[in-house]
Amino acid sequence: MLRRAALSFLLFSLASRAERTVAVTIDDLPVAQSGAGGCEFPRLQSLTERLLEPFRVARVPLTGFVVAGNCPGLTTEEKKRILGAWQAAGAELGNHTYSHPGLNTTPIEEYERNILRADAELKRLLGVERIRFFRSPMLHTGADRETKERLERFLAEHGYRQAPVTFDNSDWMFAFVYSRARDRGDSQLAERVRDAYVPYMESIVGFFEKRAVEVVGREIPQVLLLHANRLNSEMAPQLLSMLKRRGYRFVSLEEALADDAYRLPNHYAGKGGFSWIHRWSMTQGMPNKGEPDEPAWLREEYERMTRP
Ligand SMILES: [Zn+2]
Repeated sequence: MLRRAALSFLLFSLASRAERTVAVTIDDLPVAQSGAGGCEFPRLQSLTERLLEPFRVARVPLTGFVVAGNCPGLTTEEKKRILGAWQAAGAELGNHTYSHPGLNTTPIEEYERNILRADAELKRLLGVERIRFFRSPMLHTGADRETKERLERFLAEHGYRQAPVTFDNSDWMFAFVYSRARDRGDSQLAERVRDAYVPYMESIVGFFEKRAVEVVGREIPQVLLLHANRLNSEMAPQLLSMLKRRGYRFVSLEEALADDAYRLPNHYAGKGGFSWIHRWSMTQGMPNKGEPDEPAWLREEYERMTRP
């Protein structure tokens, strides 16, 4: 009996492993946490090329979410060239608002105007008639039911689909500490962040693989959230290797969202910005189970660096 259970578990693991898929999405284009000089065109151009290269080579379908008002010092031509590099790498680009407001602290009318301003700007910059995907900054989708439902209606009326995230993580915190460490020449800290980054991301991936089985009953096509930053521009090859080693095939966001899991009821309304797997589990009344934290030393560095 035990042997049979072990065998079926093994077969199940192999089967689910062979079918793993993930859509990679990258937020805060043209660049997140730009820091000093991060929006300077030559620097931004080389970061963008370096970031996109491993995805292009491995033919990973990407979806990038643009903060249309980011890097206001760039000329229209420069912005077009940066976003054009994403399009040339096969990325579909989505709307991530004009100025990255959080819905928990912004009146919904103002938030909607911010989305529309980005919509107009992006259509102009990208030369497209329609943008399909929207992603809420900080994954804040409405602190109460009324706001949540209004945003959903607004997006639908404007032809947008909210882009969920399942592999939610703190890559932004690693990236912030890494960037600061590099800027001040602290190579020891920079190394420490690099070494911890992929193992941390793998802990997130492993957690949500299991959690999907608990909440949805099976592994699902996952949606990974990354940010356009220096750390990811250097670590993307290692990240992709980790995902490949775990049996992932890379699919477009559209393909991932075609899975039935993304039609599960999501009645979560609140201030949290977290994985859709948590939202589904809460809707089902399951007890909460959080993903692994980032290392304590990293959070301490981050807090030290951002203390006023
Ligand atoms: Zn963002």
